[in-house]
Amino acid sequence: MHKNFKGIEKTVFGRGSFDQLDSILSEKRSDNNKFMLFVVDYYFKGKPLEKRIPVKPEDVIMFIDVDTHEPTTEQIDNIRDSVLSSKGLPAGVVGIGGGSIMDIAKAVSLMFTNEGSSTLYQGLNLIKKPGIYHLGVPTISGTGAEVSMTAVLTGPEKKLGLKCEWTVFNQVVLDPELIASVPRNWWFYTGMDTYIHCIESENGIYNNAYSHAYAEQSLKLCREIYSGENSGQTPENDDKLMVASLMGGLSLTYSEVGVCHALSYGLSKILGMRHCYANCVAFNHLGDYYNDGVKEFKDMVKKHKVDLPQNLSKDWTDEQINAMAKVTYNLPHMWNHALGTDWKEKITLKDMEGLFRRL
Ligand code: NAD
Ligand code: ZN
Repeated sequence: MHKNFKGIEKTVFGRGSFDQLDSILSEKRSDNNKFMLFVVDYYFKGKPLEKRIPVKPEDVIMFIDVDTHEPTTEQIDNIRDSVLSSKGLPAGVVGIGGGSIMDIAKAVSLMFTNEGSSTLYQGLNLIKKPGIYHLGVPTISGTGAEVSMTAVLTGPEKKLGLKCEWTVFNQVVLDPELIASVPRNWWFYTGMDTYIHCIESENGIYNNAYSHAYAEQSLKLCREIYSGENSGQTPENDDKLMVASLMGGLSLTYSEVGVCHALSYGLSKILGMRHCYANCVAFNHLGDYYNDGVKEFKDMVKKHKVDLPQNLSKDWTDEQINAMAKVTYNLPHMWNHALGTDWKEKITLKDMEGLFRRL
């Protein structure tokens, strides 16, 4: 069986396109209880962008701090319950922020129409009903969350996405001006998430002409942004990064991620390490799986003088390493892709612990 994926319904791309948000939303405002829910990264509270958000008196706007933790099932359930009990069902959800806010907007949209806790729906195609209209405005590029079919949530049991066709945004507004303020380290880590998506998508059994075409173009853009003679955080490169993120996301959607993401999930789940940063910490030590990619990555780290800590594992207990390895082992789709369907003959839980001990 070949994958049959749904894409974003509508996309606006361009500098200043954020100001089209009002007219885009006006067509949707008469649905349900006729108000919009905006979920916005707390970073923008008090910043000039806040004044440009087209909030009407009937709307609800929530500024969410994404620095304390990645999105949780409890957080999603609470947002849904508080809005439903105070105002009823919104016409739509608008997310303005990085990957965390993209996932919150996607997940909340689904949970408005699916009863019970979001923990019930962590996995593939467990969601029963389409969510409400949802629109994403990314303000950091890299995770590809703006295009993906999943909303990654950390629950009491597992870190796993609500993954189905209805997760995909109805609309995205891609305005590269919004990513200009991303701090330099984050610009690097999130961009490297895209780079790693492409390297992993390309190196495995699910790679195909379709995923390859997106990865090839996204990698070309990543190289211009991070290693070419005009590399660096410039407006031209921000335009490119926004497109690279989208294409990297599409590439992995039609293929799969691999060893680095499998380790990264373990680091995030057990140590709370953030996704893009965790990928960089792991990828740095995976030269035996992705030789050329890791070499190029190290050059980019050097060029942009990014700090990547070494010898982290000396402070981890055997229990923590074992727990991380277990999370990693339980991602068979990634190992299938990276090592082949006989991956269990090629790598054991103990070997995975060894990979963590390298970090
Ligand atoms: P993030 O949303 O967690 O934000 C990182 C930091 O950047 C925060 O401090 C935030 O306030 C700040 N920030 C955001 N926009 C800014 C701007 N324009 N200027 C200055 N600061 C800004 O970052 P992320 O790395 O994009 O997202 C990580 C999340 O994405 C994780 O929760 C991860 O699980 C999820 N993810 C989802 C998918 C998917 O397909 N759905 C894929 C990979 C990762
Ligand atoms: Zn990723």
